[in-house]
Order: sequence, then C-alpha cells, then structure tokens
Amino acid sequence: MTLEIQDLEVRYGVVRALRGISLTAATGRATALLGANGAGKTSLLRAVAGLKRPAAGRILLDGTDITGVPAHKLAADGLVLVPEGRQLFDELTVAENLRMGLHGTGVRGARAQERIDEACTLFPALPGAMARRAGLLSGGQQQMVAIARALVRRPRVLLLDEPSLGLAPRLVTEILETVRRLASDVVTVLVAEQNVAATLRVVHTGAVLQNGRIVAEDEAAALLGDEEFTRHYLGSLADLGNGGATAPPAVELPEELLRTTLVPADRKGRASR
Ligand code: ATP
Repeated sequence: MTLEIQDLEVRYGVVRALRGISLTAATGRATALLGANGAGKTSLLRAVAGLKRPAAGRILLDGTDITGVPAHKLAADGLVLVPEGRQLFDELTVAENLRMGLHGTGVRGARAQERIDEACTLFPALPGAMARRAGLLSGGQQQMVAIARALVRRPRVLLLDEPSLGLAPRLVTEILETVRRLASDVVTVLVAEQNVAATLRVVHTGAVLQNGRIVAEDEAAALLGDEEFTRHYLGSLADLGNGGATAPPAVELPEELLRTTLVPADRKGRASR
C-alpha cells in the first residue's frame, strides 16, 4: 500500500511539533524518518497511526483519505505501529504477548498459532523463548517480540518507532536488516530512527526531520553519497574520505558510525535549513 502524507501539521496546544510535512512511503520499500530527539518522529508516526489528530494536512492510504480515522480502525485495516520502547507486557510470556497482538482480530486457536509461527520465521530466537516472561528478555529479544507482535496481524503498513533504541551495535544492524526484509511486495515500512548511518545502509529512502520539518529527502544511497549531507548529519563520515562519503547501503561502515545519531539542531549551534 502507498502511504502518502500531505502538508501535515501536528500541534500540542501552542507547540507546533510538525509543519508542512509531505512524504510518500511506497509499497515494497522501507522509508526512514531520521531525526534527533524532539524532531517530531513520534508525532508523525502517531498521526499516521490515528493516535494523534493532525491540525492540518491529509494522510492517504492507496489514495483513500484516512486522516482522523481512529487507531483501532486503521489497525484492523492493516496499519500497525510498533511503539517506541517496545511496550510489552513484562509479566506475560512471549507467547502471551504475541497473542495480545491478535486482540480484536477474531483469530484464535490453531489459526492464531499459525500466525505466531509465521511472524517468528524472521526471528529464530523466539520459538525457543515462548514460555519466558517478556520482562526477562534482552533488549534485542524484546524488540523482536514487539515486531513479531505487530506481524501477527499481517500488516500491510508497518510503522516502527526507533526499533534500534538502546541496542548494542550488532543488534542494531540485525534489527534494521530485519526491518528492510519486512519491506516486501505487501508491506510498506516507515521506520523512525536516530541511528542515521546504520539505518541508511538498509532502507531504500530516507527523510530527515529537524524541528518539525523535513530538511532532506532522497534515496538512501544518494544521501550517503552526498558529501554535504554526510558532513552535516553524519559528522565524521565525511572525514573517512571518498570511500566513506560515497558508500552505498550495504557497505561495511566502522562500528562507531553505526551508532551515529542526530543531535537536535539547536544544540549543534547551526541554523536549521
Ligand atoms: P523522541 O525521539 O524523543 O521521541 P521525536 O523526534 O519522536 O523525539 P516527538 O516526540 O514527536 O519527537 O516530539 C516533537 C515535539 O513535540 C517536541 O518538541 C516535543 O517536546 C513536543 N511534544 C511531543 N509530545 C508532546 C505532548 N504530548 N505535549 C506537548 N508537546 C509534545
């Protein structure tokens, strides 16, 4: 499904968190929303998921206006959000958490198990952990459960809010590569991340949010190959010389770069564009 965001504005009282946001996430592609803390990534995903009513603008799904449609209705139609911080039920087992993902779908019994098995094919560690309490898992495993809990619904649009947050570099890469694999013919993926270099290595398209506006948007390979972009947003990546600055996705990058995150524009001492 094609997700189209047109001239979106989100406010919290007098605070304008997002303005003039236009972005398209296409079927079979993973689109990244990159930005520092407070840039507006969560606000954008929540607006798309029907959890925050936009002050202006439209959100279209395959051409149908879904602006203001409540979250439960959108979720039933296949638009699913994996929230920041996983938000699992710590006291419940992995299996129980995954079954919670099917809440309200009417899928039960053998069909529910089928959905769970299907969702776990991407995560070989999960089948052996079904009886464990979610709160006792590592951060990486918890993130896998959070994604699998969304997958049991067989989403057509998957929104992920900072799936790599708090994970070790090796797991960051693993989770982000999984995110890319999810972007198949049937799933449209929009992933919010602060981990710029690691994310651009795996997604198809990237858009950078700064102070509630999109300040850069292009194919991931083009962004990584753009010297001005890498100097501005990845800092030391440009210092690696040509090999680094023009590196297309899937090229090995030094580990410290995989942890590169954006800092709020006002803290960088630069005027935002
Ligand atoms: P983070 O990574 O910290 O979640 P983010 O990029 O997702 O950051 P948002 O959480 O969308 O950014 O916040 C964007 C702006 O909106 C920030 O200035 C934030 O302070 C403000 N904001 C977010 N939620 C609220 C709220 N409930 N009430 C008031 N202001 C809010």
